[in-house]
Amino acid sequence: MTVARKSDIMTVEYPKTYECDCGRLSELTHKNVSTRYNGKEILIKDVPSYECAAQHVKFARITRVKMKALLKEAYNLNTDEIKFK
Ligand SMILES: [Zn+2]
Repeated sequence: MTVARKSDIMTVEYPKTYECDCGRLSELTHKNVSTRYNGKEILIKDVPSYECAAQHVKFARITRVKMKALLKEAYNLNTDEIKFK
């Protein structure tokens, strides 16, 4: 069962499922994603992502755009953890 969580602001409708490049069906899930930005390790919490049965993980284009902005924001705030919004 998938629990849909709505973000309070800037709600984007994400499809519940998405066809993975491998042909399997990916399901919408929320993951904590750790990435490097300007040499700093930053954790973005609750990132909407799609994962298929073969564990291929994909992000929607809008998600990647927002992640970039959040990394920049976290970096400027000098924090290593930020919640996806
Ligand atoms: Zn796949």
